[in-house]
Amino acid sequence: MTFDDPQKQTSNYKLKMANVKEYSVEEKLSSLVQLQKVDSKLDEIHILKGELPIEVADLEDEIHGLHARQLRIEEEINGITEFIAQKKEAIKEAEALIKKYEKQSENVKNNREFEAINKEIEMQTLEVKLAEKHIKDATEEIAEKAKQLELARKAVATKEANLKGKKGELEKIITETDKEEKNYNKQVTTAREHVDERLLVSYDRIRKNYRNGLAVVPVERDSCGGCFNAIPPQKQSDIKQRKKIIVCENCGRILVDDELNNAVEIK
Ligand SMILES: [Zn+2]
Repeated sequence: MTFDDPQKQTSNYKLKMANVKEYSVEEKLSSLVQLQKVDSKLDEIHILKGELPIEVADLEDEIHGLHARQLRIEEEINGITEFIAQKKEAIKEAEALIKKYEKQSENVKNNREFEAINKEIEMQTLEVKLAEKHIKDATEEIAEKAKQLELARKAVATKEANLKGKKGELEKIITETDKEEKNYNKQVTTAREHVDERLLVSYDRIRKNYRNGLAVVPVERDSCGGCFNAIPPQKQSDIKQRKKIIVCENCGRILVDDELNNAVEIK
């Protein structure tokens, strides 16, 4: 193929122009309704997906936090256990000293020496009592920490079960919607080919302006299906004619008659 093939280019251009001009207003309106319905389906999928990944991420964060908490409590328990071991060692040392002093007291030379040794024994006995008290308190603290640890473990188990469920749900939605999304995207492309550029620009602009993404709405109960503003009878009859594109005076959305709207079904 060469670039300077004017005949081919012209024929392509003619074909393109012919394609666009071929469609009647009614057909364009019908394509717009189709486009709107498919786009709304895609919006629904995005909303559906938009929430679950956040929920999954939140749960993962919470589980991460709970694991950190578990680790912290375990470290605290280790620290207290070490403290108890130190105190037990201190008791052993004090008891050894007491034994040593008791032996010495058997061979004292005078009263002063006897009193000095007795004072040492008293001090070491106090050391033992104090260490025993520390061990008792620390043991109670460990029991309390063990309770906290158990609670954290249970919380992790619950969150993990919840996370597994949400992840499964998300994966299921992704698997299911993937097929739908591809199908809808294909339909969007086809529908857009049946509407001229100028109308598409309006459609996209109106859609962007409204949070619900509705740019094409039916006339329902004599009102605009987008803003519920009343549509005068003359205008309603013009809409039913399907000879020109008519927009709502209040919200600017493209209006179609109920019958045309209902005739378009999305598969
Ligand atoms: Zn309106």
